[in-house]
Amino acid sequence: MNKYDTIIIGSGPVGLSLAKSLSNANFSVCVIDRQTAKDLSSPPYDGREVAITHFSKRILNDIGSWDLIDESCISQLKEAKVVNGHSPYSLHFDFEDTNQSTLGYLIPNHKIKSAIFSSIIDDPKITFKEQSSSKSFHINPEGVEVELDSGETIHGELLVAADGRLSGSRRQMGIPAEVKDFGKTVIVCKMNHEIEHENIAYECFHYGRTLAVLPMVGKQCSVVITVHSDKAKDILDQDDTVFSQDIAERFNHRLGKMSIASEKFSYPLFASHADHFHAERFALVGDASVGMHPVTAHGFNLGLRGIDTLTRILNEAKSSNEPFYTKENLKKYNQTHQMNTRTLYYGTNLIVDLFNSERSYAKFMRRFALRFGNNVWPIKKMIMDQLTETK
Ligand SMILES: Cc1cc2nc3c(=O)[nH]c(=O)nc-3n(C[C@H](O)[C@H](O)[C@H](O)COP(=O)(O)OP(=O)(O)OC[C@H]3O[C@@H](n4cnc5c(N)ncnc54)[C@H](O)[C@@H]3O)c2cc1C
Repeated sequence: MNKYDTIIIGSGPVGLSLAKSLSNANFSVCVIDRQTAKDLSSPPYDGREVAITHFSKRILNDIGSWDLIDESCISQLKEAKVVNGHSPYSLHFDFEDTNQSTLGYLIPNHKIKSAIFSSIIDDPKITFKEQSSSKSFHINPEGVEVELDSGETIHGELLVAADGRLSGSRRQMGIPAEVKDFGKTVIVCKMNHEIEHENIAYECFHYGRTLAVLPMVGKQCSVVITVHSDKAKDILDQDDTVFSQDIAERFNHRLGKMSIASEKFSYPLFASHADHFHAERFALVGDASVGMHPVTAHGFNLGLRGIDTLTRILNEAKSSNEPFYTKENLKKYNQTHQMNTRTLYYGTNLIVDLFNSERSYAKFMRRFALRFGNNVWPIKKMIMDQLTETK
């Protein structure tokens, strides 16, 4: 009977990154996903432009994926400004206050996914089972058995669930999770514009909706609108000219004339956080462990931090010739990663609630929060360190 060191359910960007990271540390891995290898090797454009921190760049480099990303689509984020309503005042982050040449990078999600897939597909230590869904699994002291919907059963020492924020595996393991439905929808698209963006990202909190304008390569930006879900259809159905004029106006014409340059995509907005990220011979990674609100651009970045922690802990045990799948090791992963995720998760949700509330105290707090953030250097430094640290 063939027994893999690790079985990963889900070949999203985090599941695949973990597969490669474990294979680099000499673990044998089997990854299963419902999708086909063809879908994963050239995923369609999905409107998501993902902000990548320096730490994430290092992980993508270590697993051999960074160099496979088409360089011409990587945009640098030099500055970021957070604006309240139409006030000219902004909370401002500048790469010049850091020891890096940029705050981070903006890369189309489909390019990241195809680069990671290319780095795993010919790896002899990774078996990829396409068009396979996990029907059920059983965990016992001898190991893990995963039954696929094809009827095949695969065996392993450790099972890792990377099956997204509504993780069926998490549910099957009986791990509770907080799921916060914001009742909102995110609409994303690409837009062309007249005036250079100077690599500045904007997050504008308007009443009833937020608008993020993120600098892409050339005179192009990614527009991210968050609205109450009952208003989403109107925006999705809006005529291109009306939509473009409306966005330019809401953005105070900072980029001059704007025109939509792609289809609009929408995503329901909810966040989730699992109570714990481990059980007997079982671990949660990526959105299955923490699904972040996209406003602080942390979802994938936190996923990569989690796989770095998990690989390091499992590898330390393996290198000392000890069983790597023990509850103690998985508990260590849980404790370390929870420390990274909890503050960001609850901090992000607090910011979202504060900037979306119509109550008068919230309006006051918003103005106060931006000034406080700008003038209290330790807070600003902590946020910039999150973006630029590499360890
Ligand atoms: C609009 C938007 C903007 C974002 N921007 C950013 C950003 O700027 N920065 C950032 O860091 N993050 C961002 N994110 C978050 C980021 O996209 C996610 O955190 C990331 O995609 C999570 O990857 P994952 O691999 O954990 O899960 P997923 O991408 O959800 O992948 C899960 C995989 O599991 C498979 N699967 C599910 N169930 C089964 C099963 N039973 N059997 C087999 N396979 C199964 C699915 O087919 C899928 O391939 C954004 C998200 C959105 C929506």
